[in-house]
Amino acid sequence: MPIYEYVCLDCKTQFDALRSMTEADAPIPCKQCQSEHTSRMLSLFFAHSDGRVVAQQSTAAACSSCAGGHCATCG
Ligand SMILES: [Zn+2]
Repeated sequence: MPIYEYVCLDCKTQFDALRSMTEADAPIPCKQCQSEHTSRMLSLFFAHSDGRVVAQQSTAAACSSCAGGHCATCG
């Protein structure tokens, strides 16, 4: 079962959850404040770009702060 990452829009807490793919976009309460104003973040292995899904090898994700491989902290 894949791990999905979420961010709470109210308290900015980031958390992850093991969910089935069919549940990935279902509302999930914040683990910190129980708000349901949460948004799913990009997974570590798939990045949505312009409607396309780009698969990435986990070993290529040198930068842990972005999923696209091209941010200020990427090597
Ligand atoms: Zn919260």
